[in-house]
Amino acid sequence: MTIKEKVFWHDTVEMPRDSVLNDLPPKVDMAVIGAGFPGLAAAYQMAKRGVSVAVLEAETIGWGASSRNGGMVLTGLKLDAETVEKKYGSDLTRQLFEDSIASIKTVEQIVSQEQIHCGFMRTGHLLLANKPGHVASLTHEAEWLAKHFNVETRIILRGDLQGEIGSDIYYGGLVDETSAGLNPAQYVIGLAGAAKRAGTGLYPHARLVQVEKTGGGYKLRTQRGELVASQILVTTGGYTDAATPQLRRRIIPIGSYIIATQPLPQDLAHQLIPNNRMVFDYRHFLNYFRLSPDYRMVFGGRAAFFPETKSTIRSSADILRRQMVHVFPQLKDVEVEYAWGGTLDFSFDQMPHAGQLDGIYYTLGFAGHGVALGTHLGMRMADAILNGTVRELPYNAYSFPTAPLGLYNGRPWFLPLIGLWHRILDLIY
Ligand SMILES: Cc1cc2nc3c(=O)[nH]c(=O)nc-3n(C[C@H](O)[C@H](O)[C@H](O)COP(=O)(O)OP(=O)(O)OC[C@H]3O[C@@H](n4cnc5c(N)ncnc54)[C@H](O)[C@@H]3O)c2cc1C
Repeated sequence: MTIKEKVFWHDTVEMPRDSVLNDLPPKVDMAVIGAGFPGLAAAYQMAKRGVSVAVLEAETIGWGASSRNGGMVLTGLKLDAETVEKKYGSDLTRQLFEDSIASIKTVEQIVSQEQIHCGFMRTGHLLLANKPGHVASLTHEAEWLAKHFNVETRIILRGDLQGEIGSDIYYGGLVDETSAGLNPAQYVIGLAGAAKRAGTGLYPHARLVQVEKTGGGYKLRTQRGELVASQILVTTGGYTDAATPQLRRRIIPIGSYIIATQPLPQDLAHQLIPNNRMVFDYRHFLNYFRLSPDYRMVFGGRAAFFPETKSTIRSSADILRRQMVHVFPQLKDVEVEYAWGGTLDFSFDQMPHAGQLDGIYYTLGFAGHGVALGTHLGMRMADAILNGTVRELPYNAYSFPTAPLGLYNGRPWFLPLIGLWHRILDLIY
């Protein structure tokens, strides 16, 4: 079977073709840049509150990471709670982690209210220990979450892992039942539909090229014309470009890659991930995997650090296949049908950020945790902008760093070094 170099999820929903493009409106209250989860959620919320909104998207609606990801609707942040607490204190950490739990509910509510058919299911997540030492760290994290946030997670010891995963390479795991799974392409297209019904104008193939401050707002030049907006919210994720150089300098675009096998026999699929969890491991160069509703193994990882090109997708497909068979030798004769990549938005402190810079609002830096949090923060940001409370958001309480000494202008020359550093960390810890 030849591998299709395309996103499996895109074959499960009618992705927009946009053969007829609506003209841009001359003037709006709010221009949202980027049509992924945070942008569409913010537009949805603002339109419901009577604001005139235009979403400007460089490609097609949902084109970026939002339709290419693993569909894991996860609690928590990229960094573990204790690391965040050491850096930012317990009060802020509590707010951030409570918000991450609330974010699952936000997705659940939108899916139910807007009747988005995307297979949302509270199947929970399973975080796996690759080394014996990781089990102690997971146990510590579980105790810490219970003590500080009253969050119940469950530690699974090695001898009991067969009830959670049909692989014997791991040393234990942590189960969090709050997390969920969904089909990200169906979800982002459904969210776009909800935003449109609420009154938002969606404008694909309208890449923002330049922003010019005017008396009462901004003149926006796009690849297909100009418009005036009183305010701008930038949600361009890992694809943030030269149109907003002050934000581009703060975001590191990092590639992540996924393969999907042909559909597996149902009993084999149940043996591999019996409780249908969203699964990921504890390494820096992590693997994440889950079953699709039609019982494919959807297996991802940071096989290459560079954003997706034909060549990185091809080489990642080989690497990911080998990693998948290492985890699940039962899949050694199973064909891989799809391979694709997408770009993550990492900030320099690996934290999500929302605030205002040079007058422009932004929500960025989801670092592989943007399905739930991207949606939730999009909604919160919309309310905060309209209520004038952006400064009070917890995501605005810490600085949004860029590289020291101005060593970064948006071209991530240091990605091979980060890759090497992560490999060293994985060897040590
Ligand atoms: C392979 C992969 C797997 C992942 N798995 C998970 C997961 O399982 N769970 C999870 O929570 N998160 C996951 N993530 C992360 C998650 O997908 C993102 O955090 C989330 O989609 C970010 O949404 P966003 O709208 O900020 O960015 P995107 O969805 O990337 O959207 C940004 C959009 O901005 C547009 N844009 C850029 N510049 C301009 C411009 N100048 N003008 C107009 N438009 C512009 C782009 O075309 C793009 O469509 C994964 C990401 C990847 C890549």
